[in-house]
Amino acid sequence: MSAESKKAHNFIQSLIEDAISKGEQTGKVVTRFPPEPNGYLHVGHAKSICLNFGIAETFSGECNLRFDDTNPEKESQEYIDAIKKDVEWLGYTWAGDVRYASDYFDAIYYFAEELIEKGKAYVCALSADQMAEYRGSLKEPGKDSPYRDRPVAENLKLFRDMRDGKFESGELVLRAKIDMASPNMNLRDPILYRIRYAEHHQTGNKWCIYPMYDFTHPISDAMEGVTHSLCTLEFEDHRPLYDWVLDNITVPCHPRQIEFARLNLNYTITSKRKLKQLVDERLVDGWDDPRMPTISGMRRRGYTPESVRAFCDMIGVNKAGGTVDMGMLEFAIREDLNTRAPRAMCVMHPLKVTLTNYPADKTETLVLPVHPQNPDMGQREVTWSQTLYIDREDFIEEVPRKWKRLAPDQAVRLRGGYVVTCKEVVRDASGEIVELLCEYDPATLGVNPEGYKPKGVIHWVSANDSVCCDINLYDRLFNHESPDSDKDGDLTDHINPQSLVVLKDARVERSLAKPQTDLPYQFEREGYFFCDQELTAAAGKPVFNRTVTLRDSWGK
Ligand code: ATP
Ligand code: MG
Repeated sequence: MSAESKKAHNFIQSLIEDAISKGEQTGKVVTRFPPEPNGYLHVGHAKSICLNFGIAETFSGECNLRFDDTNPEKESQEYIDAIKKDVEWLGYTWAGDVRYASDYFDAIYYFAEELIEKGKAYVCALSADQMAEYRGSLKEPGKDSPYRDRPVAENLKLFRDMRDGKFESGELVLRAKIDMASPNMNLRDPILYRIRYAEHHQTGNKWCIYPMYDFTHPISDAMEGVTHSLCTLEFEDHRPLYDWVLDNITVPCHPRQIEFARLNLNYTITSKRKLKQLVDERLVDGWDDPRMPTISGMRRRGYTPESVRAFCDMIGVNKAGGTVDMGMLEFAIREDLNTRAPRAMCVMHPLKVTLTNYPADKTETLVLPVHPQNPDMGQREVTWSQTLYIDREDFIEEVPRKWKRLAPDQAVRLRGGYVVTCKEVVRDASGEIVELLCEYDPATLGVNPEGYKPKGVIHWVSANDSVCCDINLYDRLFNHESPDSDKDGDLTDHINPQSLVVLKDARVERSLAKPQTDLPYQFEREGYFFCDQELTAAAGKPVFNRTVTLRDSWGK
């Protein structure tokens, strides 16, 4: 990936360079991307993926993909498969096989016994409510659990009995014995293991006790020889616990945890839990609905991996939080597609145009460039004929100032074709305009007319040489800048009712009867549109999803 070499420096890269130059970092740099398979990845995860794989690439190291799978009730194989696909689609290759925290359940169990034997962990029978009460608050220290001083042998026996299924779910937990008065709540004897009678997607029914994230993560990192464990800022307060775990067991190495700010984007949400709510309540068409900020949704909408990586580059990596404008993500995809999307003409709301001075039995083949600035992309053919379609919105009777489209007795050029002038408007019984009778100027193909000036250029398709298609006009899913921080309302109150407008009888030039599926098209004057393969197969005609408009209409 050559773009990577141009990548702006981030503070994590600088820290590692520094460590290398001081001789503190001598071996291979190893990072990991550790998603929990409890939902699909979103654009925030893309930031973490680009960071972790990017750091590994920069230092010729390795990045692992590890599923952090300690909550079997919320996780599934569907999510695992989707996450792998998304990471690959972004263009990254993980080192070796996919890993699972559950691969280390035996080791994690072993280290729990090690802590018990050292008198650093105990089995506690306080109920959840009692535990919360004993925990104290930020202002008050906690109180020691009455079970805190259980003898080692008893702890060991009870822990083994927990493992062997001799207790009910929630009856006992294993806790670290650290400090109930610590100003850091995470160190007030945190839970390490709890009982859960749940079938696990990787380990089946082997376990009825599952380790907590804060215990699992440092051990998994150490087991893999991770050197830099990059995570988001909310884990800063967990770092002392991460270090405590590794300092108190006999693991082979002690990875360094470094925190960075998570990505927040306005006009959307980046929380799997809330995205799942939209899916479960059927407010969107699944996790890969093109309006979702998921990687799979962006892919279906027409975002390219290049544009997502460019966006992650643009926003950088730092410790200061903040919210990124959705306009930046849209800018990234426009930039990418502007240089490489093939051009085509699509009429969204067809209005029939009859050229009264063009023979009914005649046609002409016109040759247009696939891309106006890139001749290497070749040429395409469209057909000129007596009956054409233009967009209803490109014609008006009462001409406003600066109208650069068609109007009665006004001339416009049809892109790549001739100049036409509207002579008569045909209406149906209800008064609706159904047809325009126009005259074309035979002397204007590729040259300006003599003695008058056309009022603009509009797009068109030929009636006989175009195909009907469906268009999904997608826009931002929410019409509120921070849909999930509205104290008075629910996230779902802010869904943009215009976020999907479906057009059922649009027409596109014939070359798109079998659309390309690797990259969106630019429909001239309309925006970028990507063929939805699944919907196309179901509809029996091309279906295009609007990736993004040509210009930002949301800017302040
Ligand atoms: P969510 O709240 O959406 O479930 P999460 O952090 O719980 O997010 P994980 O599957 O645990 O999701 O995340 C995997 C990795 O991606 C973690 O290292 C996490 O810090 C990172 N990550 C998640 N969300 C973001 C974000 N918005 N910006 C940057 N990194 C993120
Ligand atoms: Mg999580």
